[in-house]
Formats: sequence, C-alpha cells, structure tokens
Amino acid sequence: MPLRSVSNESAPLSTQGEQQAERARRRWADISVVDEYRAQHKGTGVDICRQRNRHRYEELPDDTPFDGYTPGGYLTRETDACLDCGLAYQVQRYEPYETKQGRKTIMRYRPAYNTTHYLEGPNGETYTLEPGQGVMHPRDYRDSAITALVNAHPEAQALGRAALKQRKTALARRAERQARED
Ligand SMILES: [Zn+2]
Repeated sequence: MPLRSVSNESAPLSTQGEQQAERARRRWADISVVDEYRAQHKGTGVDICRQRNRHRYEELPDDTPFDGYTPGGYLTRETDACLDCGLAYQVQRYEPYETKQGRKTIMRYRPAYNTTHYLEGPNGETYTLEPGQGVMHPRDYRDSAITALVNAHPEAQALGRAALKQRKTALARRAERQARED
C-alpha cells in the first residue's frame, strides 16, 4: 500500500470543466530540464514508464478492499505501486447508481475513470519534476532519449546530419509547391 502521496500530475477534480481548466494552466517543462531528468533516470524503471508514457500495475485481485469514496461520490480502490518505477499508484473509481428492476430499485456499480498518484521513493526520488519546473511532455521525453542515443554513436550522427540536409531539401520543395498552388 502506498505510504505517501506527493503530487498528482492529473489532479482528480470533481468536474470535467475543472479538469480542462487545469490542463489549460499546465506549463510544459523546457527540453533542457527534460534532458537533465532523463540523464538522471537512464536505465531505471522511471525511464521505462516515461518512454512508454504509462505505468504498469498488477491486476487488482477480487479481495482488494474498497477503501472509501471521493467527494464526487465514486467508490475507490487503490493499486499497489507501479511494477516498473514504483513511484506511482492508481486510484480506481466506480460510480454507484440506481436502476429499476421490475418494481424494485437496485444499486449497481460501474467503472468510472482512474487517477494516477505519485509516491516518494526511499531516497527521495520522485516521478514528477520539481515544483515550478512544469510538466514533462511525453513527446519531449522521447525526443531526449532518441537524441542522446544518436549522439552517442558517431556513425549515427553522420547519418543524422545527412538526413537533416535531405529533410531541409524536402521541406523547401514542399514550400515551393505550396507557393505555386496558392
Ligand atoms: Zn511506473
């Protein structure tokens, strides 16, 4: 069971409107910050989850207790920490509702949405960036990983330079075509 929740990138909010407002306020981290973070986590479980942009949890066994309900009225259960990074867990939410069955009103439950929560590791490590650094964009993390990989191999770098030249030519040709069509 998770010990302590430290932050939440996808804050569980009561309404969709609030979630949208939260996303609009989100600031993406600079690529230099992403590079530094990636260099620190290279080859770790954090690296696996960041590259996949998803955590991996063990399926909840049937005897997992329901541990409460949210202000929005969803029943909740928690997973154990992520099998790869160990720094995140999931709160699974279920919506209770009533439905008529013949003359009787019965209660049923249906899966709603899940939220991701974060934990601090034994040595203070976190999945998320420091407060104020913004949120890491998954595309930027992959950019950082592939850039480091190419830069570690001189032959790949040479190919990369040739590819860039070709890319510029292709883009220039496309721009010319578009200018003629306009
Ligand atoms: Zn993970």
